[in-house]
Amino acid sequence: MLRKILSPDTCAACRLCCGFDCTDTWEFPVLPPETVKAMQEMGVSPKLTPAGTEQTFAAPSLQGEELFLCPMLSDTGCTMGEQKPFDCKIWPFRMMRDLSGRVRIAAAAYCPGMERYTDAQ
Ligand code: SF4
Ligand code: SF4
Repeated sequence: MLRKILSPDTCAACRLCCGFDCTDTWEFPVLPPETVKAMQEMGVSPKLTPAGTEQTFAAPSLQGEELFLCPMLSDTGCTMGEQKPFDCKIWPFRMMRDLSGRVRIAAAAYCPGMERYTDAQ
């Protein structure tokens, strides 16, 4: 979450991007070792699975609209503070490579906090 464009209050009231249904478990954040360590120090040891050279949450079997909520999510939002995974820090943007290998930045169209911005903004 980028504080310059989204307020913590907006995200605490929404929390949409911290819940995953069966169609978007591929969007689980990548968890580098220091993030896993920070989670464990906070007393949270979720089931993990490899994601390249790092790890991510092990996807549970989800049916229909059933949601997997990130184990670091609380009623008031993310509990990870500055230890938040990079993927989450830059949300609602995503960095990706196109087929030619060029890096692209995309914005998540479904993020309610982005509704007040035009494409140009
Ligand atoms: S979807 Fe957007 S507004 Fe909602 S919690 Fe995520 S970043 Fe915040
Ligand atoms: S680490 Fe925090 S911001 Fe990222 S998905 Fe989990 S609760 Fe949401």
